[in-house]
Amino acid sequence: METNFTQEQLRDPRIREAEEIVRSCIHCGLCTATCPSYLMLGDERDSPRGRIYLIKSMLEGTVAPKQVRPHLDRCLSCFSCMTTCPSGVDYMHLSDFARQYIEASERRKPVDSLMRKLLRAILPHPSRLRLALLAAKLALPFRRIVARTRFRTLAAMLELAPKKSGGHTQFSAPQTVKTRKARRGRVALLLGCAQKVLQPEINDATVRFLNHMGYDVVLPDNVGCCGALPLHMGGEEEAKAMARQNIDAWHLQREHGPLDAIIINASGCGTAVKDYGHLFAHDPEYAAKAKYISALAKDIAEFAAEQRIEAPLGWSDIRVAYHSACSMQHGQRVNDQPRQLLRNAGFTVLEIPEGHICCGSAGTYNILQPEIAEGLKQRKLAAIGSLKPDCVAGGNIGCIAQLSGGPVPVVHTVQLLDWAYGGPCPEPLKHLQKRVRLLPRDGQAKETADAAA
Ligand code: SF4
Ligand code: SF4
Repeated sequence: METNFTQEQLRDPRIREAEEIVRSCIHCGLCTATCPSYLMLGDERDSPRGRIYLIKSMLEGTVAPKQVRPHLDRCLSCFSCMTTCPSGVDYMHLSDFARQYIEASERRKPVDSLMRKLLRAILPHPSRLRLALLAAKLALPFRRIVARTRFRTLAAMLELAPKKSGGHTQFSAPQTVKTRKARRGRVALLLGCAQKVLQPEINDATVRFLNHMGYDVVLPDNVGCCGALPLHMGGEEEAKAMARQNIDAWHLQREHGPLDAIIINASGCGTAVKDYGHLFAHDPEYAAKAKYISALAKDIAEFAAEQRIEAPLGWSDIRVAYHSACSMQHGQRVNDQPRQLLRNAGFTVLEIPEGHICCGSAGTYNILQPEIAEGLKQRKLAAIGSLKPDCVAGGNIGCIAQLSGGPVPVVHTVQLLDWAYGGPCPEPLKHLQKRVRLLPRDGQAKETADAAA
């Protein structure tokens, strides 16, 4: 795509980077076929190609930021367009920069601005989120009244708030959970922010599975939100502050011994941590440290696929529809590993039709754009339903929350793996326990903790 930036503008390294990205777009339009917002709305300005053109025009100064904002707000940051693009256009960094640019140049309407500030102030902070969920429970009966006011985002928040509280975690930070198997190494686990409130059992399953593979698991103090939530809402400085804290905490752990990896079990967070190197590229103090941390970051499935794991305790006829989160398949390109791990663990893996299309969760998207998100959710649930699976497995808490509550139970991939290798059966799958046939070991059938119970 042709650009017309002035020499003055090109002195800014971020404009230079944006120009390079825009110029790599050959305007072919292939990305439009896989863009969920374009599929739902049919407007070129809500397609990747249309957005790239709008961003270019905004940065060149021919289109006002307020004209671009609604179209970027409707972008899910799913990056399906990047997988489809034959020209390797780096839409992720272009759209991130455009969001910061818009937030810095134009104020939002007061109600919109207030709701976004509220989300940024609550979601990345577990103690605040716990309080907010409690308040949401009390306010739930009034959600229809709230939906009729200008605070429809608030109504969406109430609608999405989990009806059941998250349980207690088996492993809280700070501590190192030592393996009882032959020791292979030491890894740090990112416990996340919202996940540890909504479903702490996912982190527990991850710790047990890492221990099972022979790794001591470090749960450091002072590691919190990865920064993705504020970053995708245009809050780059806030995201950087969170990232700096995490980078420092992980580097501190390296003083106590080598770290083989930083394990992440929410693919949205994994995409963000793997991108710390880029986030701090122009920061002389953090550039090298951030790059090092990004190189250490691995999704749990990516890491487990590199390990030698013995045969599972049992085999089953349980049919698992694998939902590959956008951040997993498009953001990190981790595709075969989770599927293969599930097969190796004794499950039958089913491919969801239109698996490349987002489920509508997308961070805070289902709160901020509830109508489009609901359309995508129903489309995904119909695709899942067509397979008649026993359960859905995915690697991202946002998708798990979005797709839960329907007829098919939804769990994290690592919960199935943990179960297969001796951990407890995930709560939503208790009714499937009888379908696991235990494999004979050392001439005798060994029973899992669950089967014994
Ligand atoms: S990130 Fe997703 S929603 Fe946004 S332009 Fe790309 S494909 Fe469309
Ligand atoms: S597929 Fe890539 S090159 Fe083609 S229009 Fe979309 S972003 Fe541009």
